[in-house]
Amino acid sequence: MAGRPAKIIEDKMLCHKCGKEKELFHFAKSNRAKFGYQSICKECLSEYYLKNRDRYREIKKQLKHKNKLKEYFERNKDSINEYKRARYSTIQGKVKIKVLNQERRAIKRSTSDKTVTAKFILELLEKQNYRCAISGEFIGDGYHIDHIIPLAKGGIHTKNNIQLLKPSINMSKGASIL
Ligand SMILES: [Zn+2]
Repeated sequence: MAGRPAKIIEDKMLCHKCGKEKELFHFAKSNRAKFGYQSICKECLSEYYLKNRDRYREIKKQLKHKNKLKEYFERNKDSINEYKRARYSTIQGKVKIKVLNQERRAIKRSTSDKTVTAKFILELLEKQNYRCAISGEFIGDGYHIDHIIPLAKGGIHTKNNIQLLKPSINMSKGASIL
């Protein structure tokens, strides 16, 4: 709405929105504006407001919600962090984090069919006898979820394309297909 300074022609002003010349009472007073009036007429302003009302309401609501969450987190920071630490230090907790991270990445490439669940990973871990699918070394709960055909090479984030690897093996595998 900012832009060129408003022009006052005798007791009239040019609206920047509709371009019509209107008497001053058509413009809202504003201390911040150069000539003491807003550069857009009341009619145009209310039209603009009406058009964007729902959007503003939605933004306001979201902001409020966000601030509430932030406040809540700030107030309870210590106990939340402690809870997270406790929760995610379990085997199940760790699996969930890994699965969520992979899912997020796959969704970015829109390749996920949502079959790679925490339950599936735990089953696969058992099936692999807690050993790396490539080197056979013991991995316990310190493994990477790997795509046999990498997502970067057109692989899909799906059950049949998943293996659990020792992190160092996974790193050296990179995006190549072994
Ligand atoms: Zn106007």
